[in-house]
Amino acid sequence: MAEEKQDKFVMDFDVTERADRPPQEYYDDIKAKFAEERDLRLEYRPPGTENYRDLDGAMVDLARDPYADDWVERAPIDDVANGGEVEVLFIGGGFSALLTSARLREKGVESIRIVERGADVGGTWYWNRYPGVACDVVAYDYLPLLDEMNYVPTRHYAQGPEIFAHCQTIAEKYDLYDLAVFQTTVTSTVWDSEAQRWNITTDRGDTMRAKFVVCANGTLAKPRLARIDGMETYLGHSFHTSRWDYGFTGADLENLSDVRVGIIGTGASAVQIIPNLAKTAKSVHVFQRTPSSIDIRDDWETSAEWAAKQGDGWQARRRAKIVSKLREQAERRSQLRGGITRDEKIRRQENNNIDAMMRIHKRIDDTVEDPATAESLKPWYMLMCKRPCFHNEYLPAFNRPNVHLIDTHGQGVTEIGERGPIFDGVEYAVDLLIYATGFEVQQTGIYNRIVGDNDLDLNDKYDSGIRTMLGIHTAGFPNMFIMGGYQASFQFNLTDLLQVQGDHIANCIEHARAHDYDTIDVTSESEDWWVHEVIAHRGKTTRNQECTPGYYNFEGQENRRQDGNYNGGFPAYIDHIADIEADMDTHFVYTKD
Ligand code: NDP
Repeated sequence: MAEEKQDKFVMDFDVTERADRPPQEYYDDIKAKFAEERDLRLEYRPPGTENYRDLDGAMVDLARDPYADDWVERAPIDDVANGGEVEVLFIGGGFSALLTSARLREKGVESIRIVERGADVGGTWYWNRYPGVACDVVAYDYLPLLDEMNYVPTRHYAQGPEIFAHCQTIAEKYDLYDLAVFQTTVTSTVWDSEAQRWNITTDRGDTMRAKFVVCANGTLAKPRLARIDGMETYLGHSFHTSRWDYGFTGADLENLSDVRVGIIGTGASAVQIIPNLAKTAKSVHVFQRTPSSIDIRDDWETSAEWAAKQGDGWQARRRAKIVSKLREQAERRSQLRGGITRDEKIRRQENNNIDAMMRIHKRIDDTVEDPATAESLKPWYMLMCKRPCFHNEYLPAFNRPNVHLIDTHGQGVTEIGERGPIFDGVEYAVDLLIYATGFEVQQTGIYNRIVGDNDLDLNDKYDSGIRTMLGIHTAGFPNMFIMGGYQASFQFNLTDLLQVQGDHIANCIEHARAHDYDTIDVTSESEDWWVHEVIAHRGKTTRNQECTPGYYNFEGQENRRQDGNYNGGFPAYIDHIADIEADMDTHFVYTKD
């Protein structure tokens, strides 16, 4: 049955040797071209994230939430004055909060408050409602709590509305709406060491109190704009992909038939949007800096028979199978590597990666009719240097007469005039300009100042390098947990990671409750140990530096080895959590009245 096929996600660790390999010079030439293309981009760019800016200042209108029907007035919550508090407060209402709350409810925690910037739960899936929005991870794995919700997704790859609805039904089932506050941004989270509680302030004048705080603000939550001269002077309509203005485009983009559209950026969001614009807009100008890799998308509707066949606990079994497969793969890889040198291992991995990328090039040649456009759409970097994309309509969209690729050859759009983007002296007049320029990456406490014990600001603590255990606990910030942040394992299916983190956080809170502990904090020895684990597993190869700039490699900026994800593998991350939970007294310090 179709659903039983495992998704063939191309991994770049393959060390098998092909018998029919082209000569090594073929690969070396391609690698040289990769380096050339990377260097070109680095030359154009100011260092790292200075390429980007927030949706503020003259561009602040773009930050407006187009999905909220109303701005709901409410009196500020004043726990500090009223002696109120909640047991667990989540900063953010996306999957991190939802799946951890479900586990906490199972453990009898009643008092849970979600504080969320959007007007509902859902996080990513609240904000990203652009036409064509869908998840590239198989829905049976991506959507969490399917066993608990007794739900089988309707498609192999779920679309945005189904995922958003799933978030809402989780919040309903676990009564998370009762205490939740929406349209509210946490501005500070400060530890009161005397009361042993967190004081939380918000942009709505609240002063909330909580025993435990979970930073569940997501990994790609804050939209960003490319920094482009003259962008404030543009006179047409514009928005960011995560603030889609259906009032302007119409629900089915029906208002675009007379509209000239420009879109800046060709990452995963743009790849899903462009085919829909191509079908509806008068014209579409796609401003590309670096092409994405576009692989085949195998999608289908879930069949009723298959869904009926999945018995109780089917998702848990699926997850367990995936983890055991990852373990087998790691085992096989280390056996294969056994007989070869490190250089040979890297050579084979790179050659296999190049083969995969050349297959993607061939798909472009086979699909895109205009040879110059086809050439421009070819990514020249190792697969996985950038987020791979999967789509069957993106490349054919460039065969339509109304779709025009403006290839900026790594430079990007650097100027926008009153009528539209300017490149190479040409102003491209558009009525609607869409910024598909992505999000700020993995910052704990975006919008929010976090201050722990002894008035230590988290940003000051991290100034000399991120320090956590598991990416979840950071010493001096008792009763605080971080989800999806740096020093956690990297998982293409983010909800796999969030689920193991959520389970662990719920176990920590249960442990504190069972022993009547007022506080739980990681020991500095355990934090040290983890920082060294992270450092030991990062920087084993030079791949990151050799990649074309993007958010996977900090936009090509040098960074400390500890300021990234844990690269020891997901099974090892799970094992570390199990070991820690078996020996809580070694890893944590507690206080008790
Ligand atoms: P990205 O950060 O991936 O893409 C931003 C794009 O803007 C890049 O193509 C970048 O080019 C381009 N850009 C930046 N500045 C300029 C400029 N001055 N001129 C022209 N182009 C410019 O953001 P996305 O919103 O596309 O995706 C973010 C992440 O969200 C994805 O990587 C993925 O993890 C997730 N996502 C997942 C989806 C899915 O499951 N299908 C769908 C959508 C998003 P350059 O590459 O040169 O930096």
